[in-house]
Amino acid sequence: MSPHLLSVDSLSRDSVDHLLRVAARMEPIASRRQVTRVLEGAVLGNLFFEASTRTRVSFNAAFCRLGGSVCDTTGFTFSSMAKGESLYDTSRVMSGYCDAIVMRHPEQGSVAEFAAATHVPVINGGDGPGEHPSQALLDLYTIDKEFTRLGKSLAGAHILLTGDLKYGRTVHSLIKLLSLYDPMRLTLVAPPGLEMPSHLIDLVASRGHRVELRDSLASDFSDLDVVYTTRIQKERFTEEMSENFAGLSQDFTVDRTFLDARCSDTTIVMHPLPRDSRPGANDLNVDLNGDPRLAIFRQTDNGIPVRMAIFATLLRVDDQIERDLRPVRWFVPERVGVDDAHF
Ligand code: ASP
Repeated sequence: MSPHLLSVDSLSRDSVDHLLRVAARMEPIASRRQVTRVLEGAVLGNLFFEASTRTRVSFNAAFCRLGGSVCDTTGFTFSSMAKGESLYDTSRVMSGYCDAIVMRHPEQGSVAEFAAATHVPVINGGDGPGEHPSQALLDLYTIDKEFTRLGKSLAGAHILLTGDLKYGRTVHSLIKLLSLYDPMRLTLVAPPGLEMPSHLIDLVASRGHRVELRDSLASDFSDLDVVYTTRIQKERFTEEMSENFAGLSQDFTVDRTFLDARCSDTTIVMHPLPRDSRPGANDLNVDLNGDPRLAIFRQTDNGIPVRMAIFATLLRVDDQIERDLRPVRWFVPERVGVDDAHF
């Protein structure tokens, strides 16, 4: 595996399988039954120049759960980039302070530019509309866990990706990651103008997967295994797009009616979150809360073991995790959410 995690392009099927196996071994620590200090003394630099809740906090928590400490900075205003500092200088400076760096930045390619100036492992926490590889890994880990529970297999699965497939970086990384596996059926449904970039469709098709493009959710999806829905990335729209975007008047909402009428009892619903819960947002509806098919919070929980696995692998302690495990001493509820499924 490359010293950095910048894009799914650097991952082979073997390295992904390894990361998922390490993540599974992290579960007792991530679910607060065991404690490890395998990264004791190590410092993470968490640099977020774009809005984030899940990615920033879960990378932070994952590093802490391995026994490390975290230095955080958010937004341009409070960083020296506001004084005109280059990515090269910032990278070299931060590398002198930290053992690993996670960075999110609004420009595609910026995290790779930052990583080119350092030997310290850098993880892309999202570069504009580019990629979000750690999200794709936790998405794949979630699909794998849910399929194991349901007795399904990834080979031949039917997966629907819907929403903003043009600017949604999580689906860009996820489709590349899925393409490393045995042939499956991928249906892509996007509002006109927000379709998946053609080079990604070509890549997946060239690896033997069946790809279907549609512009509406009004079809029979009774054989669907996963519906992965995404938020319209309005923050990436030009002014002209925001004013004239007719595609948004169509309904792309995934809700209980859609799931009950068109899908099945074993279709799982995923979303990278945040979901836009405002009326008319064309996003995942809150009326699915409490439905066991809604996997979004199991998905966010899976961010911890997967991000722990990424750190452990990049910092080469993945063979030492079990060495100093001990039970936790504090109170941990059996389930963390009030609507969590009982399985
Ligand atoms: N949290 C995800 C991302 O950073 C998805 C989103 O913002 O819609 O890409």
